[in-house]
Amino acid sequence: MTQKTRKGTERHEGSCSFCGASADEVALMFNGTGGANICSTCIEHGYGLLVEHNIIGEPQRTEGKGGGKKFRPLKREDLMRPDQIKRFLDEYVIGQDSAKRYMSVAVYNHYKRLLAKGKTQDVELDKSNIVLVGPTGTGKTLMARTIARLLHVPFSIVDATALTQAGYVGEDVESILSRLLQAADYDVEAAERGIIFIDEIDKIARKGDNPSITRDVSGEGVQQALLKILEGTVVNVPPQGGRKHPDQKYIQVNTANILFICGGAFDGIEKKIASRLNTNAIGYGSTVKQRVDMNNIMQYIQPQDLRSFGLIPELIGRLPVLTYMEPLEREALRSILTEPKNSIIRQYECLMGLDDIELTFDTEVLDYIVDKALEFKLGARGLRSICEAIMMDVMFDMPCTESGKIHITLEYAKSKIEKQ
Ligand code: ADP
Repeated sequence: MTQKTRKGTERHEGSCSFCGASADEVALMFNGTGGANICSTCIEHGYGLLVEHNIIGEPQRTEGKGGGKKFRPLKREDLMRPDQIKRFLDEYVIGQDSAKRYMSVAVYNHYKRLLAKGKTQDVELDKSNIVLVGPTGTGKTLMARTIARLLHVPFSIVDATALTQAGYVGEDVESILSRLLQAADYDVEAAERGIIFIDEIDKIARKGDNPSITRDVSGEGVQQALLKILEGTVVNVPPQGGRKHPDQKYIQVNTANILFICGGAFDGIEKKIASRLNTNAIGYGSTVKQRVDMNNIMQYIQPQDLRSFGLIPELIGRLPVLTYMEPLEREALRSILTEPKNSIIRQYECLMGLDDIELTFDTEVLDYIVDKALEFKLGARGLRSICEAIMMDVMFDMPCTESGKIHITLEYAKSKIEKQ
């Protein structure tokens, strides 16, 4: 498809195949093959539909391109109470009640602190950066993303595994902020109250229990480098990310009001928790016998367990809110498939709906997808890949379907999964 006409600069024959507008009635006309055209107004309309059906994220623009800022300043009336934040999270994230409560309070306090700036004279309110501990595919990223959507603040996800200590191959820690700046369209003020989700924070744990004598450039070195950023400092950020170099121009970003949410699976941390609980239970001075629910050991997680895992105490100190994500059981997985506002099944239905095709599933197919996801042990991530495998051929053949209806039976679903 080629862009042919711009209003006022070039006249063009032809009209939009969708709305019939002529080229000089619209800002831009795009020409496709076979004489088909589409105007910028129809593209805008289509984009709106995709957002409405949650196929792509909300643009969050308050003014048009070139006409101003993408994110408006935070106002008192924008601030939602923790119970309202939790209710919003409930619409998108299934289960994880404890984590939702922690997150709601932490986020509420964080933005309250921002709004109260300069109004509290004697008391300085500390930041409430968060750590979410839990297996992969349990909704850590989803939770952080949903919070950012609620608050209309810039949001970026970075992977801690890509970071290394300055001077080594990999990304400098400052590049975390480049991503946020990009998400904020280089609106520094907006970036300075944004949210950064640092994924796989457990991968920068110290490699051994003792401080290493060899260099640990992607572990403790990175943790040290993160300290200042997490706490709040003015950082020289390379606008395009990557490695800093002397001739580069930097953008100064103050991180004092950026909320950091760190997520990690912390594989094996249950053992550390169990051994701490054991020591406490039999240790000197223990009078009360603790009743420990060994099936859900994560609920007892404490900052010192992160320390035994290899995070340095200074870093743990800058992440004061610690909460955990529960592994997703059968029921939760089943709900994830159909209940959230943009659940996987709804997304497929919507995709088909755009081609005027009604998509339906046998209930047993949904149960089968859940069984397979449990078998693959990938949490909710497994659901998506199983659905993709089932739907692949359907989506390939669908544009040729005449009937306007597609029904997926258990037999069909099994044939697609079991052939793999
Ligand atoms: P994590 O960050 O914990 O590895 P993600 O948040 O990236 O997991 O989850 C992957 C996908 O699985 C999400 O995009 C979402 O579709 C689904 N998902 C995971 N957990 C949940 C949940 N608790 N509720 C709803 N959907 C979920």
